[in-house]
Amino acid sequence: MAACPNSAANLFTAAKVSHLNLLPQGQAERYSRVEAMVDTMEEFFGSCTNHGECQEACPKEISIDFIALMNKDYLKAKFKNRKTLARS
Ligand code: SF4
Repeated sequence: MAACPNSAANLFTAAKVSHLNLLPQGQAERYSRVEAMVDTMEEFFGSCTNHGECQEACPKEISIDFIALMNKDYLKAKFKNRKTLARS
């Protein structure tokens, strides 16, 4: 995050989301979790503009591809919630 020009925490959060999604018991809350984590992250940190500085600085060499995966799940979560709300 220190390397990010926007002070965004997307790479860290994306790595955490992906890790939890790998766990069998993590599937049940996959979409509610990603929505909660991204919404909280965006409340306290800057926005990601895909500079890739974080990836270069990351000692674990985590790829920014994980940010794209997180964003995909986030959009799916929003869509799922919208469908649920429409039904209720
Ligand atoms: S990709 Fe760029 S803007 Fe996004 S978190 Fe990494 S350094 Fe920040």
